[in-house]
Amino acid sequence: MRETMRFEQKNAILYSAETVLDEAVAFLQALIRIPTVNPPGEAYPTCARYIGEQLHELGYAVEYVELTPAEVAELAPYGDGLPRVNVIGRLHGSQLSPVLHFNGHMDVVPVGLGWSCDPFGGEVRNGRIFGRGAADMKGGIAAQIYAVEALRRAGLQVQGTIEQSGVVDEESTGNRNAGMGLLVERGYISPDRTDYVVITEPLHVNNICLGHRGAIWGEITTFGRQSHGSTPERGVNAVEHMADFISEAIRELRPRLQQRLNSVPIVPVSARAASLAFGTIEGGTYLNIVPERCTVTFNRRLVMSERLEDARSELCELLERRTRTQPDFRYSYSERYATGPTWVSSETSLVQAFATAIQEVLGQTPGYVCSPGTSDQRFVVNNAGIEQCIIYGPGEITQAHIADESLAIDDLLASIKVMALATAHLLGVYIP
Ligand SMILES: [Zn+2]
Repeated sequence: MRETMRFEQKNAILYSAETVLDEAVAFLQALIRIPTVNPPGEAYPTCARYIGEQLHELGYAVEYVELTPAEVAELAPYGDGLPRVNVIGRLHGSQLSPVLHFNGHMDVVPVGLGWSCDPFGGEVRNGRIFGRGAADMKGGIAAQIYAVEALRRAGLQVQGTIEQSGVVDEESTGNRNAGMGLLVERGYISPDRTDYVVITEPLHVNNICLGHRGAIWGEITTFGRQSHGSTPERGVNAVEHMADFISEAIRELRPRLQQRLNSVPIVPVSARAASLAFGTIEGGTYLNIVPERCTVTFNRRLVMSERLEDARSELCELLERRTRTQPDFRYSYSERYATGPTWVSSETSLVQAFATAIQEVLGQTPGYVCSPGTSDQRFVVNNAGIEQCIIYGPGEITQAHIADESLAIDDLLASIKVMALATAHLLGVYIP
């Protein structure tokens, strides 16, 4: 960290954060009104341009990172061929390095049922902003941009470069993807040029998130033999095979997973154990036909102590055992996405800058926590090999993906203050 910031500078930053809040709220409302629903990945170009124009207005050099249709087909297989565009803004201070990169994903999950307000309205009620993506994580994008703007309005310049990116396809994950994965593959984020990365996902403003659990998203199909519904004895019922397998997995595997607890604190605490959940099921073609095929998707979450290979073989062992005991049991197993857990050190200048800022703004020591779901951090830490990458942003993780998703405006303000002070601590500021 640079020399201690002067008392007046700190106050000027905190005051300035208050003055940009209304603009940050308006910007967030406008972002919510662009329905970047993923899958399949709608309105990405509009959203990227909107962020890019805002960054341009605030003095950034803006670059759009686009993909050819062939690259879209390869990197976004569930994206209906819709265009993918990422946006990066660069703001140079008195020197080019170090580089602090703020990142947020523009995409939001589908709306679902049970909303009491317009999911794309950006309505403000009782001190909260409502809408799909308010917390996860258009609020983070607004906070990261206006935190840096607060420094500028306080009459300060940073000693280094600030980068801001808005990326696509975080929600659809992937071992590679068209968003953060692509920025890493193309070298926009690399150890040679990027010193620190802050991903502004919602893990509570008093927490610094250092990693996430691992995950396997996969598909299991059972195969049977079709026959007339009136003569089921002549067929093999793939749906019944699947039902048996699912209940065995729940009965036998799940209790074992529940014993395995994460070695580091996780938010929410209910997610501290390893887990397995089935997501979708599809089988059969008609009531009067014994089905020859049934497919489920599953979602396995790994705690810190687990390895991908072990999680795989544990699940496949259940399936294999059935093939040994039931001669007509046939199956296939495939994966869409797999990542091991990530975890970075808290003993870095990036983490310490944020810890100091949280202490200053909220008067408390931060929690060092793990995220239950995976995030784009894996690309930065595992693929690019950048250790100094944390998740810090406004909002509660429990607001993510729910009906009536919302973000407290107080949270937005607190995170703007924390990020502004942390940036000043990390890079150093001066009066130009
Ligand atoms: Zn998110």
